[in-house]
Amino acid sequence: MLQSPPAEPGMREEEVDTPALLLDLDALEANLDSMAALLAPTGVKLRAHAKTHKSPVIAHLQMARGAVGQCVQKVGEAEALAWGGVPDILVSNQVVGPAKLARLAALARIARIAVCADDAAQVGAIEAAAEAAGVRIPVLVEIDCGAGRCGVAPGPEAVALAERIAASRHLRFGGLQSYHGSAQHRRTPAEREAAIGHAVAVTRRTVEQLRQRGLGCEIVGGGGTGTFALEAASGVYTEIQAGSYAFMDADYARNAAPPPFRQSLFVLATVMSRALAGVAVVDAGHKAVAVDSGLPLVQDRPGLRYASASDEHGKLLVEAGEAPRLGEKLRLVPGHCDPTIDRYDWYVGVRQGRVECLWPIAARGAMA
Ligand code: PLP
Ligand code: MN
Repeated sequence: MLQSPPAEPGMREEEVDTPALLLDLDALEANLDSMAALLAPTGVKLRAHAKTHKSPVIAHLQMARGAVGQCVQKVGEAEALAWGGVPDILVSNQVVGPAKLARLAALARIARIAVCADDAAQVGAIEAAAEAAGVRIPVLVEIDCGAGRCGVAPGPEAVALAERIAASRHLRFGGLQSYHGSAQHRRTPAEREAAIGHAVAVTRRTVEQLRQRGLGCEIVGGGGTGTFALEAASGVYTEIQAGSYAFMDADYARNAAPPPFRQSLFVLATVMSRALAGVAVVDAGHKAVAVDSGLPLVQDRPGLRYASASDEHGKLLVEAGEAPRLGEKLRLVPGHCDPTIDRYDWYVGVRQGRVECLWPIAARGAMA
């Protein structure tokens, strides 16, 4: 069931019902502007990742600042974006199963849709779906550039798969997907540089081997919020896929030399119990905030520590300073932005203490 909006434009922030997903619009816009300004001198394009924001509204704000399109991980996310008017979408992931591929091919009639593959059988399945729908789908070869998750080995294996794609009448070879996920949260710049140095080297070698076989890469995509500056400076990558940069989270804030973006996303919570001395319980637990990458922080209240979560409750310890009052509203900084956003139907956009807009999280729950 769609949740009713927790606020109306014009309300003061304190009046917003909780738990609610707040978006500080000044900080969001500053982040979008900063990424555009950081990438402009490199000539590398942004294809922002919509797995984070799940919203055509935010996609359009990114594209208005020069993003060439959007990445998604799921067909359902691609549908929400294409139906919201986003014209150029890369599914930066594998899509397996005829039902999903039929949806993907249908979408290729209303938007430019590309997809990734790391297996010849999978290329055959995409080809069959494209043929049945009468469309031609660009397919990128995903290479394992160090994260050890999806992707064929860089080099000859990738070239063979690219040749298989290029030989199809119903597909087009779209380039390389080379994303090093586990590098994003390596804590020190030296660790991140080492990981991306490897990713760049194997990607460069594969691009060169493809070129020798007459195959050009329209897209060489990768790079997230933690490392995008390295991929953008490489001379090899053509597109950056950062997503979290728009919002940030407590886990990214723990990186040494963290990415240069502001926290724009908060879970607004209400203190619902002060029964125990030194404890304040808020109405935001596991169902309101993702804790897979650490517990939330309490914004602007360094003396309050979010110590544990249960389904509906968050237990804050008052370690210093004033205890919050019963009914007081607090901004929590989520440990991990993407799965937190997926728990809500609405962004409550606030500017200088007032609600300005409510944006639907259109791809919320798109797991397929
Ligand atoms: N690209 C791909 C393929 C991803 O899976 C992700 C996130 O996991 C990203 C880009 C974006 O990462 P971030 O949100 O950390 O910028
Ligand atoms: Mn994430």
